[in-house]
Amino acid sequence: MTQQLALPDGQVIPYQLCLRPRKTVGLKITASGLVVHAPHRLPAAQLAQVLQDKAHWIQSKLALRAAMTEPPMQWQSGEALWWMGQPIVLALQPGGRQQAVRLEGAALVVPTPEPDNLALTARKVLQWYQRQALPDFSRRVQLVATQMGETVNHVALSNARARWGSCNSRREIRLNWRLIQAPPQLIQYVVCHEMAHLREMNHSARFYAELRALYADYLAAEAALKQWSNKLHRMA
Ligand SMILES: [Zn+2]
Repeated sequence: MTQQLALPDGQVIPYQLCLRPRKTVGLKITASGLVVHAPHRLPAAQLAQVLQDKAHWIQSKLALRAAMTEPPMQWQSGEALWWMGQPIVLALQPGGRQQAVRLEGAALVVPTPEPDNLALTARKVLQWYQRQALPDFSRRVQLVATQMGETVNHVALSNARARWGSCNSRREIRLNWRLIQAPPQLIQYVVCHEMAHLREMNHSARFYAELRALYADYLAAEAALKQWSNKLHRMA
């Protein structure tokens, strides 16, 4: 039977629950998602606790599996990339040592002295994404902060595998640089989610009321973000 695991960060993970004559809970990630093998007599609350304790493991395994379903990066000219929800294409420019990586129309032009050095190309592309991401995210955070009448002490990029953002009691916001590949409304959703945590450091009804005031259609955005997850995790 299909069950749902609601995680503290708001993610809801569907899973198959199989009751078995066994003593411990077993978790498996399959092509169709999370499968939980549990003893027949295990109280629901105890199972819920086991799953919450394993939440990080579950999320990272699911993200890994999702990333694996996308073709691996080749880092060659013609490679399809995403930028703010739009498809763009990698264009290596051999020889250009001094020139900067830049977006020209729908081409990400990457000057490189060594077009066959995949690690070098990857580094240049990732740096470019990260350099674009921080000012965009910072501007969004500042706009939402103004709208809320709140202050933020620091905005930084994160490289987490299974989290899109975080907010702490020191009023520091971290946002996953991979989001800059996604449509702007999804970036905005994650910004609003983290900003709502300035007021409610949990996922209570009060938190969702704050979030709804900032981003009304947050459920659709959460669902869309899951759809995008594979694409956004293609780059290491
Ligand atoms: Zn949250």
